[in-house]
Amino acid sequence: MKVVTLPITPGVGRLFTTLLNPLVADLVAYSLLGELRIMLNTVGIPKLDKQAEAPEVLLQVYRNHLDGLGIAKQTPCFHDGSQDFEDYFQDVLKRLLQKGHLTQTRMEISACACGRVEIPTEALARVAGEYRRKKLIRLSPPGFICEVCKSILISTKENVAVCRFRMPEQVSIFPSLFEKEVDVTVSRIMSYPTVISRNRREFSQIKIGEYTSSADTDFRWATFLGYIIPETESGILVASATTLNQAVKVLMLDQLLTGRARCSIVAHPLIRIHDQQISLSGLSAEAFLSLCGLPYVSRTFLSLGLRWDTMEGIVDSGNLHLIQKSLPRRMWVNSVRQSPIMLEKVQKLFGRQTILNLLKKFRNRDSLTEDEEFLLGFLEPRM
Ligand SMILES: [Zn+2]
Repeated sequence: MKVVTLPITPGVGRLFTTLLNPLVADLVAYSLLGELRIMLNTVGIPKLDKQAEAPEVLLQVYRNHLDGLGIAKQTPCFHDGSQDFEDYFQDVLKRLLQKGHLTQTRMEISACACGRVEIPTEALARVAGEYRRKKLIRLSPPGFICEVCKSILISTKENVAVCRFRMPEQVSIFPSLFEKEVDVTVSRIMSYPTVISRNRREFSQIKIGEYTSSADTDFRWATFLGYIIPETESGILVASATTLNQAVKVLMLDQLLTGRARCSIVAHPLIRIHDQQISLSGLSAEAFLSLCGLPYVSRTFLSLGLRWDTMEGIVDSGNLHLIQKSLPRRMWVNSVRQSPIMLEKVQKLFGRQTILNLLKKFRNRDSLTEDEEFLLGFLEPRM
């Protein structure tokens, strides 16, 4: 089984808490004896991000982060900036067209100046009124504005390409805490046509008969699952509490293409740092990893925030010193497990208290239980 991350936008200077996503994917692969795959989103990154660099440069930056996090060097990293991905995407469009999910139509579209927002005007009030952690559109009388460029959205009648989704067979998610949010997301995606063309940005082409336009880069990367996981295989997609809506769309698209529910989602909470004597919360990934020094330290520190019964895990910055003082005084044992450990069990094993207890045992040179061996096996960097 393949375990994949939702496409991650790499770049220098991103907050270190963004490292949690690949770490959780590593944990899921470790527990279920799956193969980890990392997917990066390197195109269509908003200019405000200042990281409009070549995919290869972004890939290298991210490889360095993964090294600092102790993720195995041979872990395959894919990205959407290659010609290979473009060929794959064009094939996906062809298949969606053949299956009748892709159509061209004319409708009122509301768009902003920067090109991030291009949505059906009929969906505007609804989208702006939704509860979401990260919002792109906000009601600001007399109109609606784009949160990126702050311009007022202007409505015009346009030719667009739309993807018509089908009600998914099933979207399984772990932990069940997120089930309700999945249902809400599915009904949102089903409630209005998804416009996948972009008239204000120039990228990858969509052709439907005589009609041509650019593709929405978010839609483009959302088709990635078949690129990484062969259609005959099953897999797990790892997302965070804020990217759950994208994960659901990825799975729904995959079901349109493969005709079955072959993948499920694991969602993890966000981490908030409670700064004490040392201030960590504003650190970039690079600064954090160099402060940690060893992959074991970065893995253990982030793991302290892994709680699956809440939307947000809180970690005290002071724990970093505690971890650095509590290096296991023995050689790492790369034990080989034959059978997977179910995520329900992992959920119970991971937690601030169990990890702190483990550190205490290191300092006291106490022997470890089987569960603690499992935990330690994950905290050790991959070779
Ligand atoms: Zn905008």
